[in-house]
Amino acid sequence: MTKMLAAVYEGPNTVGVKEVEVPRPAPGEALIRVAYAGICGSDMLIYRGGHPRVKPPLIMGHEFAGTIVDVNTTGTDLKPGDQVVVEPLLSCGRCEACRTGNYHVCQTLGLLGIDRDGGFAEYVTAAVDKIYKVPATLSPDVAALVEPVAVAVHAVRRSNVKVGDRVVVLGAGPIGQLVTQVLLAAGAGQVLVSELGEGRRKRVAELGVTTIDPAVCDPVVEVKKATGGTGADVVFEVVGAAPTTAQVVAMAKVRGEVVFVGIGARPLPLDLQNVSFKEQNLVGTRVYSFRDYEIALGLLATGKIRPELVVTHRLPLTEVQYGFDLMAEGDAALKILLKP
Ligand SMILES: [Zn+2]
Ligand SMILES: [Zn+2]
Repeated sequence: MTKMLAAVYEGPNTVGVKEVEVPRPAPGEALIRVAYAGICGSDMLIYRGGHPRVKPPLIMGHEFAGTIVDVNTTGTDLKPGDQVVVEPLLSCGRCEACRTGNYHVCQTLGLLGIDRDGGFAEYVTAAVDKIYKVPATLSPDVAALVEPVAVAVHAVRRSNVKVGDRVVVLGAGPIGQLVTQVLLAAGAGQVLVSELGEGRRKRVAELGVTTIDPAVCDPVVEVKKATGGTGADVVFEVVGAAPTTAQVVAMAKVRGEVVFVGIGARPLPLDLQNVSFKEQNLVGTRVYSFRDYEIALGLLATGKIRPELVVTHRLPLTEVQYGFDLMAEGDAALKILLKP
């Protein structure tokens, strides 16, 4: 076992499936055989050449589940054969954020699959303290969803959502769909989801939520109508685009809250005048941390998240290129899982 197949990002719009060396676990790390790895929106950003930190060649993939093959430390109870997932965060351990328990917003935060080789391969290495054992009731294709579910769990736990609240989710891609599922698990009373894609609206509607097509009606007007003119208690922005950020303040009620989940690399407009007039709270969110991962695993293991509404494709790793083509088409593909 010295060579393995991996999907290697080689430059903008170029990903090659090739034989590379199996990585060796450094002290404190374990070697994992990957069962399934999900393609994320940020992998799409890398693939298009738009990720500022990525230097090719790189094995992408930060959402994966697998089995322990080898452990290079005695300070763990992990052993070969254990089914695991990995929290892919790389933190410095020295900055103020790290030292105050907020390693997920480390000043130099990196990720497996972005800043070092990740899980679009037969094998990957990870630090043992970032590895979580998977409950026996979880199959590896469902366990591979833990990372995006943890993003949704983190966003909802950062919010002030209370049982019975009226909530808006802008965007029903994989994360918007999972935020909606976690909100329902958290007891939100009424969830309105605004989404342009017809296929995505249909999928999220299976959760029993009300959907809004922003191409045919004004989402702000619809939210006002649905809340008796008051506005939503909490609005989750999960698109990261100018048209949606322009709506959030008008949709949220006086003293309501806006949670930003979809914000990417570009600055976006926000109606700060009305943030002040309405005394609203704005909440930023970035990735997840230890408890979010545990909670996400628990929600998946107890059936409180419906994976079949999120996973649209399972492809062999060798079809990674087709996976990116599907992602580029948008509406039909939510989460695509690769199987090495
Ligand atoms: Zn991701
Ligand atoms: Zn740090």
